[in-house]
Amino acid sequence: MKRIYLSSPTIHGDEQRFVQEAFDTNWVAPLGPNVTSFEQEMCAYAGCSHAAALSSGTAAIHLAMKCLEVKEGDIVFSSDLTFSATCNPITYENGTPVFIDSERDTWNMDPEALKRAYEKYPNPKAIIIAHLYGTPGKIDEIMAIAREHGTPVVEDAAEALSSTYKGAKCGTFGDIGIYSFNGNKIITTSGGGMMVSENKEYTDLAVFISTQARDQARYYQHSQIGNNYRMSNIVAGIGRGQLLHLEEHKAIKKKIYETYREAFADIPQIKLNPLNPDGDANCWLTCMTIDPDCKVTPNDVMDALAEKNIESRPIWKPMHLQPVYAESDFFTTDGLQPNTAPQKGDNGDDWDKSIGGDIFRHGMCLPSDIKNTDEDMEIITDTVKSLFK
Ligand SMILES: *Cc1c(COP(=O)(O)O)cnc(C)c1O
Repeated sequence: MKRIYLSSPTIHGDEQRFVQEAFDTNWVAPLGPNVTSFEQEMCAYAGCSHAAALSSGTAAIHLAMKCLEVKEGDIVFSSDLTFSATCNPITYENGTPVFIDSERDTWNMDPEALKRAYEKYPNPKAIIIAHLYGTPGKIDEIMAIAREHGTPVVEDAAEALSSTYKGAKCGTFGDIGIYSFNGNKIITTSGGGMMVSENKEYTDLAVFISTQARDQARYYQHSQIGNNYRMSNIVAGIGRGQLLHLEEHKAIKKKIYETYREAFADIPQIKLNPLNPDGDANCWLTCMTIDPDCKVTPNDVMDALAEKNIESRPIWKPMHLQPVYAESDFFTTDGLQPNTAPQKGDNGDDWDKSIGGDIFRHGMCLPSDIKNTDEDMEIITDTVKSLFK
C-alpha cells in the first residue's frame, strides 16, 4: 500500500544545481558563497535586513536567548501549545520558562493570559511566541504588551515561513525571528535554521558564537563560550534551491486546507484549525478538532488512517502538561493555573482547564504533504468521513 505522508521533503532539482556548484568549486565546507547568498536571499524574501544561517531552528532559538542575555534565573514567557524546541533553549541558558496559554481564535499565545503573567512577573527577560502550524498569532496585541513593558520578543516562525500578518512576513515583527529548515517544514535543507533581525548586533553575535566564539587574535583565544551552530555551504545550497519554490509550496498547502474544509463542511463535529483573518497562513499542517461530545475521538481517526498507511499525528502536547516542565508556572486568562504536577503520560483530563489542553485532547494534524495527489486527498477524506456516518 502506498504511504501517504504528513509533511515530507519536496525536492525540485534546483537544489542539485547549487550543491553541484559547491562541489565544483570545492566549497564542501562550513561557510562559503551559498551561505552568504542564502542569507541575502532570505532577507530579500522575508523583508528584513540581517540574517544568520545556522545548523537548526533550535540552534537559532538558543542563540536568540544568548543575544538577549538570558541568564540563570531569568524569566522568559513562552508559548505553551507548541513543540518543545520553542522553550528548551531557555533552559540551556538556565533561564526559567513561564508558559502562557493559547486563545481559541488562532491557537497561539493569548494576550490576556500574557497580561496575567506580568502581574506575577513584571520583569521577564524575553517573550518567545510560536506561530502554530503556520497561523500567525495576535501579533499587534502581543507586541503592544511587550513594548509597554520593554520586553524583547523572539518570534518562533519555524512553522510559519511565508505566512504573513497585515501584509508583512511572520518572523519580522519581533526583535529576533527564527526559521527552521527541518525535513518536515515547508521548505527544507535536510536540517537547518536561520535567525533574522533588524538589529545587526544580534545576527553578528549569532555568527560569532555559532563559529566557536573565536576572538580576533593570532592564537585560538576565547573570551566567551561558543557553539558549533553554523550552516554548511552544501546545506545552504539546498536552501537556495528550495527558496525558489517556497511560494509554490505555500499555494499547495493552502489548497490542501481548502480541500479538507470543503470535504468536512457537512460534518458539524469537525472544525479545522482557525486561520487569523489579519493574516495569510502558509497552512503548513491542516489540523482539526472533534466536538468533545462526539463518540469519534482523534485516536479513532489516527488509527483509521494508519490502517491505510496514512501518516497523521496528535496536536503538540502543551508544555505545562510535560513531565519535564511539571515545576514551571503556567498562566491562563484566569491567572496562574495551580501546579498539579502531572504524572508521566497524563493528558490533564480531569484538572486541566486550559485552552491549549483542550485543543490537544480533541485535536489532530491531518496529512498535509505537498505531493499528495487528488486521489490521495480523496482516500484521506473518505476514510475520515466514513467514521462520522
Ligand atoms: C521545528 C520546530 C522548531 C525547531 O526547528 P529545528 O530546525 O527542527 O531545530 C522550533 N519550533 C517549532 C514551533 C518547530 O515546529
